[in-house]
Amino acid sequence: MNKIYLDNNATTMADPKVRDEMSAFVSQMYGNPNSLHTFGTEVHPYMRLALDRLYKGLNASDEDDIIINSCATEGNNTVLKSVWLNHIVNGSKKRIITSQIEHPSVSETCQFLETMGVEVIYLPVNQRGIVDPDELRKVINPKLDALVSVMWANNETGLINPIRELAQISKEAGVPFHSDAVQAIGKIPVDLQSVAVDYLTFSAHKFHGPKGVGALYVRAGQKITPLFHGGEQMGGLRSGTINVAGLVGMGLAMELATDYLEYEDQEVRRLRDHLEDSLVQIPGVMVIGDRDIRTPNTVFASFKGVEGEGLLWDLNRSGIAASTGSACASETLEENPSFKAIGISSDLAHTGIRFSLSRFTTKEEIDRTVDAVKKAVERLRSISTTDLS
Ligand code: PLP
Repeated sequence: MNKIYLDNNATTMADPKVRDEMSAFVSQMYGNPNSLHTFGTEVHPYMRLALDRLYKGLNASDEDDIIINSCATEGNNTVLKSVWLNHIVNGSKKRIITSQIEHPSVSETCQFLETMGVEVIYLPVNQRGIVDPDELRKVINPKLDALVSVMWANNETGLINPIRELAQISKEAGVPFHSDAVQAIGKIPVDLQSVAVDYLTFSAHKFHGPKGVGALYVRAGQKITPLFHGGEQMGGLRSGTINVAGLVGMGLAMELATDYLEYEDQEVRRLRDHLEDSLVQIPGVMVIGDRDIRTPNTVFASFKGVEGEGLLWDLNRSGIAASTGSACASETLEENPSFKAIGISSDLAHTGIRFSLSRFTTKEEIDRTVDAVKKAVERLRSISTTDLS
């Protein structure tokens, strides 16, 4: 039985083309790019090509910086702590504005900064589960605010925030804007010429690149204070030997992700909608968030009277991998503000499963998944006492 992977918001399979492109840099071309001999210098053109692919994929301008790092968790920590050092510790600002639905790499960093005396404002979400620009307009204050940080798309629900509008409000107020774009890249267009984002963070393994490499985009004119010292890599902005194979893989993964955006929007969406339409035929099933504001690959469905974890294990026995939500924070699902906003009570939240597809997902896999879900739900309900009426 072939296994079926529907947990692409947690991580993705590296595209075979990415794997092939990387292999030379973990075997024969292993030089340290900072070395002066040929082993070091021969990798430079490949690193340059990878960086060019990142700039092109994001439509960044040559004056902007793209700092290669280990992952989005590092990027998010770097932005928040750098802004804190520059504008709060060594400046006159006092607050950071973020949202109630951020990934822990943002929300827990904000909680840490609160212990350092920073005031953090957590913007709520509206009834559709996304941040309402009016909530930002109400509170933003250029005298007090060092940064606004709102994720582009949510990892659990796939809901897409109105980033263009939020970034514009921040720009007009003169407050830098950061977006965690981990769940947006490769799923929806991320065009930095048309959206006024100052800092952007992402991880290659979420868009069919390798694990252990990511990047922090910094718009020209914005400052970053490095968290790591002790080397000249990345112009001194992120010390540490560069993961050359990772960078090469991430560059190609970005190029492919851009090439496949239309496929994602049409074919992946078509499969996701087919899965969703089939799931809601099962009595007591509810899907979180409107389709038109969700990434095309994600569906979070709640199954009344069924424990999400029980369902997950039944599916796993059938060779199907899904998730009860974020791989990092599944225990906090019941408190998820997006769920609450859309009217998903805490009783219902723990009955949910997230299916996240990719460009490698097939129709046959979706059909097999629907059959397996139906059987599992029937079995689990037959041993539960919940009244479905
Ligand atoms: N931000 C979001 C929205 C995520 O979904 C994730 C991972 O799930 C991260 C940040 C952290 O990514 P990484 O673990 O690659 O640092």
